Amino acid sequence: MKSTERMPNPPQQEPQQITKRQKKLDSPQTNPHTFGFQPEEPELPPERCQHIKFLDCDKSVGRILFECYHCQQGILSEFTGEPVIREYKGRPSVIQVKIKCPTCEQTAIRLNTGEVLSTTAIPSPWQQ
Ligand SMILES: [Zn+2]
Repeated sequence: MKSTERMPNPPQQEPQQITKRQKKLDSPQTNPHTFGFQPEEPELPPERCQHIKFLDCDKSVGRILFECYHCQQGILSEFTGEPVIREYKGRPSVIQVKIKCPTCEQTAIRLNTGEVLSTTAIPSPWQQ
């Protein structure tokens, strides 16, 4: 039995000239697979935290107890003075004093202070 074949294209339809890319950009249709789909934001890597404890804040010479950012060495430092503000890239910014770790010799911490008087390695009170 012979079935009536339908014309694949109505005679009035213009030949398609748009490329796939144009079709995708111009298409008002929403892809049902992505509609309403909210991609989860990638989790940020956990920020490394640093134990810091300020002592004698009310005195002219303050003390800070902290752990080295790099090796977690306990460090006690004395500091004094007001933070120095200098112009940096056209904006005033506080100069941070770097405290060098006596153990790993990297920058253990940066302080907003005038001057660091001493740096002493101590057993970290957070690692007991
Ligand atoms: Zn260190």
